[in-house]
Amino acid sequence: MHVQSPFDLSFEELEGLLLGWGEPSYRARQLWAWLWRRLATDYAEMTDLPKGLRARLSQELPLSLPRPGALELDAEEGTEKVLLHLSDGEAIEAVLMREGDRRTVCVSTQVGCPVGCAFCATGRMGYVRDLTPGEIAAQVLHFARRLQESGERVTHVVVMGMGEPFLNYAATLKAIRNLNHPQGFGLGARRFTVSTVGVVPGILQLAEARLQVNLAISLHAPDDALRRELVPLGRKWPVREVLQAADAYVAATGRRVTYEYVLLSGVNDGLKEARALARLLRGRLAHVNLIPFNPAPGLPFKRPSDRRVEAFKRELLRHGVDVTVRRSRGVRIQAGCGQLRTRHLPP
Ligand code: SAH
Ligand code: SF4
Repeated sequence: MHVQSPFDLSFEELEGLLLGWGEPSYRARQLWAWLWRRLATDYAEMTDLPKGLRARLSQELPLSLPRPGALELDAEEGTEKVLLHLSDGEAIEAVLMREGDRRTVCVSTQVGCPVGCAFCATGRMGYVRDLTPGEIAAQVLHFARRLQESGERVTHVVVMGMGEPFLNYAATLKAIRNLNHPQGFGLGARRFTVSTVGVVPGILQLAEARLQVNLAISLHAPDDALRRELVPLGRKWPVREVLQAADAYVAATGRRVTYEYVLLSGVNDGLKEARALARLLRGRLAHVNLIPFNPAPGLPFKRPSDRRVEAFKRELLRHGVDVTVRRSRGVRIQAGCGQLRTRHLPP
């Protein structure tokens, strides 16, 4: 059983706990600021809290944080990947990307992933367990502490690491709300992007939540036959239902949806697919993000040539669909999209 950490609790829960212990109501605000704004790593730092309270907190709500292990850097690119050891011996990876003034952290939501997409190293490692809200947020806090040393801050969070966020919906949303809380970390809702493989109930729930976070949907194919080969969950939620859910999200939030499309050479990167994709998305508040395949050991696909990527992009543009090509970051340190994993495949 996972022992709860203070980072697993919402502000209201923390406040309720401290009030229950007979503490005055301002204590929760003090503690919250230490945890989420001053980025404390130990109750001992919180010298304006009574000693007795600090002792009780250490006993009943230990401030355990994932322990950083191997760190890989691509100094030229400014990308860093860290292995974080969790309290039960499992591990996850999180990535920091620097681009201009942007400092983007890519977080994981599960150890492994149960979806098993054919082109994804995380999917190939299988599913181990869901992360807690605190473990999800801790990845952002880890890099926030690192950046603090140079007077910098995390400016964006993308939920695009290991795992499917909408198969761990409650924990993911709680982590986002906690990081968004104005008295704490205070990262604006629009600075978050959640990427889902197309879990329809999760998309609808996010629409209901009326949070201004960005939604990205991993489509990868314009029709169900091809999509099912690449994304096993496509059998459960066909393209039509995914698009309907996305429309509900647009109606509720007024925000444009991003459709991610991993380009696999000779599989889904033809002009025929580009035109079919354009037909699907034309007239929708949509944007396509093409992701040329990032190789990882054991994955049986190839990255298309730059010329082919460009041709696919031009075909979408010609049919009136907004499109960008994702610049792959961290590929040299196996930190690119779909390359994260903490278990190695058998040779
Ligand atoms: N489970 C979520 C979020 C994590 S994956 C999802 O699938 O959307 C984030 C993005 O990386 C997804 O769009 C995914 O399709 C893409 N991706 C996975 N493996 C990849 C690979 N080998 N090369 C390029 N992109 C990949
Ligand atoms: Fe899971 Fe996303 Fe990888 Fe598919 S692409 S296996 S949903 S992490």
